[in-house]
Amino acid sequence: MKDHNPQTMGQQFGRRSWAEPWKIKMVEPLRMISREERDEALQEAGYNTFLLRSEDVYIDLLTDSGTSAMSDRQWAGIMLGDEAYAGSRNFYHLEEAVQNYYGYRYLVPTHQGRGAEHLISQALIKQGQLVPGNMYFTTTRLHQELAGGTFVDVIIAEAHDPNSQHPFKGNVDLAKLEALIKREGAENIAYISLAGTVNMAGGQPVGMANLRALRELCDRYSIRIYLDATRMVENAFFIQEREKGYANTPIAEILKEFCSYTDGAWMSAKKDNLVNIGGWLAVNHEDVFAKTRNMVVIYEGLHTYGGMAGRDMEALAIGISESVKDDHAKARVGQVRYLGELLSDWGIPIVQPVGGHAIFLDARQIYAHIPQDRFPAQTLAAELYLDSGIRSMERGIVSAGRDPKTGDHRYPALELVRLTIPRRVYTQAHMDVVAEAVKAIYDNREEVKGLSMVYEPEYLRFFQARFEPLS
Ligand SMILES: *Cc1c(COP(=O)(O)O)cnc(C)c1O
Repeated sequence: MKDHNPQTMGQQFGRRSWAEPWKIKMVEPLRMISREERDEALQEAGYNTFLLRSEDVYIDLLTDSGTSAMSDRQWAGIMLGDEAYAGSRNFYHLEEAVQNYYGYRYLVPTHQGRGAEHLISQALIKQGQLVPGNMYFTTTRLHQELAGGTFVDVIIAEAHDPNSQHPFKGNVDLAKLEALIKREGAENIAYISLAGTVNMAGGQPVGMANLRALRELCDRYSIRIYLDATRMVENAFFIQEREKGYANTPIAEILKEFCSYTDGAWMSAKKDNLVNIGGWLAVNHEDVFAKTRNMVVIYEGLHTYGGMAGRDMEALAIGISESVKDDHAKARVGQVRYLGELLSDWGIPIVQPVGGHAIFLDARQIYAHIPQDRFPAQTLAAELYLDSGIRSMERGIVSAGRDPKTGDHRYPALELVRLTIPRRVYTQAHMDVVAEAVKAIYDNREEVKGLSMVYEPEYLRFFQARFEPLS
C-alpha cells in the first residue's frame, strides 16, 4: 500500500506494497457535474443523498449493498442461468455453496436480506417477546418490531464510543444479557440476534471467544442464536488479524467455525457475497426450515428461487466462493483502512478502529455546534456531495427513527456519516480524492448550520425524508 505519511514517504526504499488480487477488464465512465448543477440536484433531492440520481454522483459511497463489481467468472455464471420455475440447477449450486462455506443445513433463498429477515422474524417471534442483539440494524429491528418483538441492545458499552480502540467492539455484553434473561425469563426471549460485523457501530467485529461464551450462556437457558451474516467474511478477517490462535487459520475456516456456534443466519448477499441482488436464510433446525420454506412461497417466490433469477443464484454461488478467499478479504478491508488512515492522519474524527466496509465520520464531533435534532450527520452528507459529488449516507438520528411508544426521535449516541466502499470497484486514487474532499469539508465546518426535516415518512424514514437548510 502507498505510504501517505509525508514524514516517511520516500525514506522507505525497502518497502514492499501489495495490491488487489485482480485486474480491470471493463470500465464504466464517471462524470462530475458542476457545482451549480450539484446545488440544484441536492435541493431537488431534499438534502437526502438517497434521493439523488446516480448520474449526478461522481464517487458513490452511499452503500456497499449490491454495488460490488462481479468477476468474469460470475458474469460467465450469468450465462448459465437455468430459468426453470422449480428446481433450477443454480439453486442446487447455491445450496451447496452455503452448506460448504457457512455450514448450515437448510437453505431458503430470498430476493435480498430483508426478505430473509421478514421470514425469520415472523417464524420465531411471538407477540411481546424480546430480541436481544449486538446493536440494532434498521431493517432487522423493523422486521422484529412488525412481528411483535422488541429489540434490546446488549452490545458492549465500547461500541457506543467512537474513540474506544477495543478490537471487538461488536461483542455481546454477557453480563447485561444474563441479567436481562433473569429479569424477563428465558421464555420471553425469542432468540439472540447477533450481527458480524456490526454495521451501525462502524463495521466492528465480534470475537470468536465472545461467541463461544455466548453460546454457552444461551445453552444454559435454551435460547437460540441467529446470525446476521451479511458481513461475516469481513468479521472473519478481523478474527484472523486480531484474535489469538487464528493468525494462520484461513478465513473460510474461521467463517465456518463462527457459524457453527449459531443456529442459522440471514444474509444480504448484496454485501459480502459479491452480487448485485440476492439474499438467503439458512438454518439448522428442521422445524424452522419447514416453516420458513413454507412462508417464502407467500412473500418471495418458490422455495428454489425465492425471488432470484436462476442466473442470479449462479453468480451468487460463485460470489460466495470468491468472497471467502484470504487475498480478497485482505484487499477489501485494506482499501477501507487506507482511506481511514489518511483521514486519521489529518486529524479528522472517525470511528476507531476502522471497520470492515466503511469509514464512519463522527459528525457529532465535526459539527459540535449543531444540535442533534438539527441533523448534523445528514448535513455533513449533504455538504460532502455539494463540495465534490461524493455520495455518503447518514447513520445518526434520522436513521434511528422514532420510538414506537413515545413517538419521539430516538437519540443515538453515534451521529455518523458513512463512507461505504463498494467491493472491487474504486481505486486508491478515488480514495485519495475522497479523503481530500472530507478534509475540505472539515476545514469549513464552522460555516454550516444544520437542517430541518420537512417531510417524514412513517417507516425507515432515512430513505425518503426531505430537509431544508437552516440559515
Ligand atoms: C443491508 C443489511 C441488511 C438488509 O439487507 P438488504 O439486502 O438490504 O435487504 C441486513 N443487515 C445488515 C447488517 C445489512 O447491512
